[in-house]
Amino acid sequence: MRQLIYIILVITLLASFGCAVNPVTGQQDLVLMSEQDEIALGRKSHQQVLQQYGVYDDPELQSYVQKVGERLAANSHRNNLIYRFTVLDSKEVNAFALPGGYIYITRGLMSYLNSEAELAAVVGHEIGHVTARHSVRQYSAAQLANIGATLGAILIPGMNSAGNQLVQIFGTALLRGYGREHELEADQLGAEYLARTDYNPQAMLDVIRVLKNQELFETQAARAEGREPNIYHGLFSTHPDSDARLQEVIAHADKYRNTPSNFIGREIYMDKMNGLVFGDSPEQGIVRGRNFYHEKLGFAMQMPHGWNIMNHPDRLAISAPNGVALMQLGMEDINERISPREFMETRLGLQHLTNDAPLNIHGSDAHTGLAPVNTSDGKRTWRFTVIYFNNQAYILVGVAKDPGGTAEFDSYFLETAQSFHAITSNERILAKPLRLKTIEVGSDTTFAALAQSSPLETYSEEKLRLLNGMFPNGEPQAGMLLKVVE
Ligand SMILES: [Zn+2]
Repeated sequence: MRQLIYIILVITLLASFGCAVNPVTGQQDLVLMSEQDEIALGRKSHQQVLQQYGVYDDPELQSYVQKVGERLAANSHRNNLIYRFTVLDSKEVNAFALPGGYIYITRGLMSYLNSEAELAAVVGHEIGHVTARHSVRQYSAAQLANIGATLGAILIPGMNSAGNQLVQIFGTALLRGYGREHELEADQLGAEYLARTDYNPQAMLDVIRVLKNQELFETQAARAEGREPNIYHGLFSTHPDSDARLQEVIAHADKYRNTPSNFIGREIYMDKMNGLVFGDSPEQGIVRGRNFYHEKLGFAMQMPHGWNIMNHPDRLAISAPNGVALMQLGMEDINERISPREFMETRLGLQHLTNDAPLNIHGSDAHTGLAPVNTSDGKRTWRFTVIYFNNQAYILVGVAKDPGGTAEFDSYFLETAQSFHAITSNERILAKPLRLKTIEVGSDTTFAALAQSSPLETYSEEKLRLLNGMFPNGEPQAGMLLKVVE
């Protein structure tokens, strides 16, 4: 699969081969597609990104980010392009660029930034990837294959991709970034654009510190919970903020400063953060303790005690302590008048169901059964349950890490499936998202005190420090603006 995509990509590149001038170096680059082809590739992928993540529904915030981005882009090496900056409705901490000037930042990353200058640093770094044409120079086969595999589907699109995703969780497959040299170049270009736009280029280092602290916290939390850390690679993460070369390129950017202006924009940014959705959004379902509420799709479920729930845009992944077993919930349209059992046979391709039985789950038609599944790391028996609800088939799969271990966890898989029900009016109230609130702190405020009244369920003190750039042990000073969660 990956091989095939790679070959197609190479052919496409060869077909549009030309000696194009690199906008940053001014030199001739060999392997470059034409600007037209690059923009067309970005335009096409843009639709897939929007489909997968969704746009964060706040036109005022979108236009703020667009304005900050446009000012930087006007001072960039490719100011002929029309840049589009989009805030994605995702709690993931991420930002990325597509060829041709399409740039994205998640609301998750925005919530951890503390000034307009830091936002500009993220956006400037991504503009750097576009102006240096890194995506064209280095879109690896792996990345393209990844986009193909993960974009374009809501929840689990059937068995094959569910299998792949489980393999990814069991394995240590990590998204690859652009690589150290290109990341450093993007930082250098970003710092230059910051300086030319009258921001302090040092904001680049502040952002790298924010991301490093995220990574540090996630690694600690994952270790305590006995799971794999959820770290987003590819964003600044290839170098530490103490990196001598990074310090050098940022110091170097100072020469592009027109005025001694040092715009930080903390107040304006903190004001924009007031009311920002934090964590899960109602569009993607909300996790509260061991419960999952999806107001928009109209259902709720309960997971086993102590299992970790990860709500991804395309699926819900639930893992047992220490990752010894996994479940995933996905969803597909039902298009024909077939029974849940027939759906399992024809749509999921499960021809050898055993221990199977029809179920009625809180009024919904359902079917459950065991089936053997081969993945690249071995053959296992999986528990499949298909539940029909509002003309959608909800597919819950469960599998143990130990190839012989499914029987041990089977009662958990079945109980979870049996908990599926239409959301109640009480649950609708519980399904409201958390939001950031900007406050001015009094004289004796501590993060410990703020954490006590916080609705955050775990690590609230650490999370509040992370949100305010004061991890691991900073404390607020009187009169300071802080982001809290309510
Ligand atoms: Zn980057």
